[in-house]
Amino acid sequence: MSGERETDHVSQEGGQSRRPPRAARGLLSVVIPCHNEREVIDATHARLVEVLPAAGMDLEIIYIDDGSRDDTLQLLEAIASRDARVQVIELARNFGQQAAMSAGLAASRGDAIVITDADLQDPPEVILDMVRKWRDGVDVAYGRRRSREGETKFKLVTASLFHRLFARLIPYPMPVDTGDFKLVDRAVADAVIALPEKRRYLRSLVPWAGFRHEPVWYDRHARVAGVTKYSPWKLLKLAGDALVLSSDAPVRLTWVAAAGLACVGLGGMVTAAACSWLAADRGQGVSLAAITAVACLAAAVQTAAVAVVGEYVVRAYREAQGRPTWVVRRTIGPGRAATRPSSKAA
Ligand code: UDP
Ligand code: MG
Repeated sequence: MSGERETDHVSQEGGQSRRPPRAARGLLSVVIPCHNEREVIDATHARLVEVLPAAGMDLEIIYIDDGSRDDTLQLLEAIASRDARVQVIELARNFGQQAAMSAGLAASRGDAIVITDADLQDPPEVILDMVRKWRDGVDVAYGRRRSREGETKFKLVTASLFHRLFARLIPYPMPVDTGDFKLVDRAVADAVIALPEKRRYLRSLVPWAGFRHEPVWYDRHARVAGVTKYSPWKLLKLAGDALVLSSDAPVRLTWVAAAGLACVGLGGMVTAAACSWLAADRGQGVSLAAITAVACLAAAVQTAAVAVVGEYVVRAYREAQGRPTWVVRRTIGPGRAATRPSSKAA
């Protein structure tokens, strides 16, 4: 199903006519969120500046320090002092990867913008393939993972299941087996930055915007050093956010659960009536157990329904508060201020 949906506007190689190729040299922005990445950051920068000139574009690299507690920020400052193509945005605290990427996107000036992790899991060479696609007229060239080195079996299975379920539940075509590693055209970045919503899940906002999407297949490496910043609990929270921010399906599913429960209740009533009619009080014990089970089930579904509504209410309340998605403490180097879509407070 997700594969079929994908061909709607995502991954339509050879399907619909593309825009004319983009020939200009142009500016390539690379946006990199960083949280406690002291072990990798120098190696990452060295690889990027070694590989990316082959793209034949001018380059700006934007590192967003997302409230690191180690000396990542000092290392980034040193990189910026050596390399005029580098901008460092220091966020005022840890706002999370989604906010950090959004801040980088808002600050970028490129004709094409690449988002990638700080840990070299996504090989910079793949960016060259993305630029080639972009030059051919593709608006979003997203990295699609053929394999993922260094991940546990549990993470691979749960991520694959979640991606497929998510693609079914959201009301527009959504690529699977993909993360935040992608190249987007300026028009796509502007469309996403202009959205007024504060809580953002970029993996679904970019496909939401539409445009021409195509995958670039690649093998995802293990981290060169350091550890993942996502515990299973943080991943679960991110999955919940992704679902509630992008889809009404959880509310609809509570209707399905309520309908299922109504059927169980109806079945129980019919069985209880039949038992007492056929065998006087012989079914009393059974009926008591059945009533208890149905009552517990009903209470669980009702509680879950309230919790689901609560998830949406909490997010609506956060949006109504209107607090910015991120707050910048300081910006080092060239580029524009990372102020959208935050309010004036940012
Ligand atoms: N990151 C961030 N803020 C956070 C957590 C992570 O900016 O609160 C950055 C992190 O430094 C990395 C990227 O987001 O560049 C992805 O994080 P990580 O590599 O830990 O995730 P994984 O690849 O294991 O899913
Ligand atoms: Mg990573």
